[in-house]
Amino acid sequence: MATFGDVRRRTILLFVLGIGLPSVLLGYLAFRGIRNDQALLERERREDLRRIASVTVAAHDSGLVAVGVALDSTLSRTESAGLPLAPSLSKLIMRHPLIEAVFRLSADGAIDEFVAPDLLFHASEEDRTGVDPPLAGRELTRLETARRLELRDGEPRAALAAYQGIVSNASDPRVRAEALGGIARIQRNAGELHAASNSYRRLGSEFGQVRTGGGIPFGIAAQLELGHTQTLAGDTAGAAQTLVDLYAHLVRTERGLSRAQFGFIAGRLRESLNELLSDSSTGVLITALGDTLRALLQEEELARARTERLLAFQTSAGTVLLARQARQPENSGAPYGRTTIELEGQAFYLLIGEPPSKTPDDGGGAWGLLLDPDTLESRLVSTLQSQAAPQQVRWALRGSAGEVRHASGPLEAGVPAVSSGLPGGVPPFTIELFPPDAGFVKTLLTSRRGVFFYAFFLLAGILIFGLTLTVSTVSHQLELARMQSDFVSTVSHEFKSPLTAVRQIAEMLQSDKVSSEEKRRRYYDVLVEQSERLSLLIDGVLDFARMDSGHHTFDFQPVDVGPFLETLVSTVQQRVSHEGFVVRSEIDPSLPTVALDADAIGQAITNLIDNGIKYSGDSKEIVVRGFAENGYAVIAVQDFGIGLDPKEKARVFERFYRGGNELTRSVKGTGLGLTLVKQIVEGHGGHVEAESEPGRGSTFYIRLPLEVAAT
Ligand code: ADP
Repeated sequence: MATFGDVRRRTILLFVLGIGLPSVLLGYLAFRGIRNDQALLERERREDLRRIASVTVAAHDSGLVAVGVALDSTLSRTESAGLPLAPSLSKLIMRHPLIEAVFRLSADGAIDEFVAPDLLFHASEEDRTGVDPPLAGRELTRLETARRLELRDGEPRAALAAYQGIVSNASDPRVRAEALGGIARIQRNAGELHAASNSYRRLGSEFGQVRTGGGIPFGIAAQLELGHTQTLAGDTAGAAQTLVDLYAHLVRTERGLSRAQFGFIAGRLRESLNELLSDSSTGVLITALGDTLRALLQEEELARARTERLLAFQTSAGTVLLARQARQPENSGAPYGRTTIELEGQAFYLLIGEPPSKTPDDGGGAWGLLLDPDTLESRLVSTLQSQAAPQQVRWALRGSAGEVRHASGPLEAGVPAVSSGLPGGVPPFTIELFPPDAGFVKTLLTSRRGVFFYAFFLLAGILIFGLTLTVSTVSHQLELARMQSDFVSTVSHEFKSPLTAVRQIAEMLQSDKVSSEEKRRRYYDVLVEQSERLSLLIDGVLDFARMDSGHHTFDFQPVDVGPFLETLVSTVQQRVSHEGFVVRSEIDPSLPTVALDADAIGQAITNLIDNGIKYSGDSKEIVVRGFAENGYAVIAVQDFGIGLDPKEKARVFERFYRGGNELTRSVKGTGLGLTLVKQIVEGHGGHVEAESEPGRGSTFYIRLPLEVAAT
């Protein structure tokens, strides 16, 4: 017989060879398939990334080509129509946010045209457009006479009259404006502040665009003086409002001043405003004006930085450009070359035409465009976003020093799958694209060969199922083997004790050592009793064997169940009464006659009663009931003993099964009794069941169908 270890080894071996190995092989194939798929997917992704990069570069490129073309057409249109250049170039710049300024590089390396609308100020007085010619002639003499009367002779009345004459009948607006200024000044000095304010207002509205000898528009000068006059009149809020309005005009509208003029006026304004705004008890208006001023100062700061940047380009870019072969070789063929130059630590991105040194005779030098760096960058970013985001591609835009300028999100360290520069290095940025994470599990889930994945899991499922089944079968078999071997040892033991007794008595009788006839008779009784016990035991085993092999045939005879049970109970009662047991019967007299094998059913009931006695513990009472219920004749055997726990209840009818607790183990038994009961009852078309509660006893029910009885 195979030992437990053998069985286990054989099972494991079979399992490994038959199921484990093929599964591992299939699993490996699936793994390879997924890996291949992953590589394929990565290649596809890389191609996607290349496409995104090239679309971005192309969009950027065509934007630059387009502004070059726009410049060309503006230049030729303006030239053929004989229009002034500056206004049409300004319009061009307004239409194309990508253009920050247009310039012309002369053959001697100077920027001789520079159109950059919206500069806060000009580099110097000469750069200002439309400088007024100096005053001359008779009207100037009249003005000077009036001034002399006012300032040197101390005759304000006469001076006022002279000024008024000039204002009303001079023709030169500048002379009239100067005279009106004189009137206002005299009025203010005379303490006629209201009249003075009105005069300054008139000066601003009538002569706002006319410029003073210093080149400052009268509008600005008059408003500055108005603010001053209002301050003198104690109208702090009015003065502050006037000056803040002027500041706004200076920062947002006025574009005609030189750097020095702008600096002078802005400085005076800030000074007066600081005084006005800090001095006053803070009214609502003043607080609001303070906020406006702060916003204006910030705005001015930005505009100033941009202006200085462009002015720096205007002054120094020419030499740098000339020194460098501006046109990039890879752009030959395109009308404008691209280049990046650096001045005072700032980068300038340009498109520039044929270098003037190569075409010295075209008279005009080379036209170029200064590109707006912010627009350039934000367009790149938005193209990248629109291309990359839908595919969950991560991206970064790096500057020339490798610094990350923009990115789709936090960048993990890692090499980008695709990186690309921009044509001509304008701007000198690098686009980096990282594929979305293509991890193994993700591939598994998104793979077109996902069938591998499912096969993999199916296989794993089958494996686990198979293993569980095998283990449970093996355990069951092992349990059966254990129970069988228990059975053999129990039965051998049962056989051994009567046999030993028979043998000892027989030997004594044989050797004639028995002293009295009475003793001899007792020995004969014991011999009979023990051999009966032996044959009972043998009958039991044989019955079981016959029943188990299915060869047993029942001899059905009509039996009146009531009296049959009564007889059975009283027989058992006689047998066990000397041990103090009481076997009671409660039989319903209406129980009908049933066709059954009286010997077999009798044996089954006796087995149940015997079990009741065996597992009675301290109680000495057994009740046997007989009644009809739902078409069955029911025979119930109840004890009040140790009971069964629920787990055992399901198993007690299995062959060789014996209860596991110590109390049961101390009682002799083979584990066949209930199996036999079950076989007999089922042979009658009925069934058995147990009801029990540990410590309170058990009731076993035999149910025999009445219908069978009728046939
Ligand atoms: P045996 O009594 O020879 O062990 P059985 O097949 O008659 O074999 O019973 C199987 C097991 O069922 C017993 O070992 C015992 O644990 C349990 N059993 C049977 N009848 C009772 C009962 N009346 N009360 C408690 N346990 C019982």
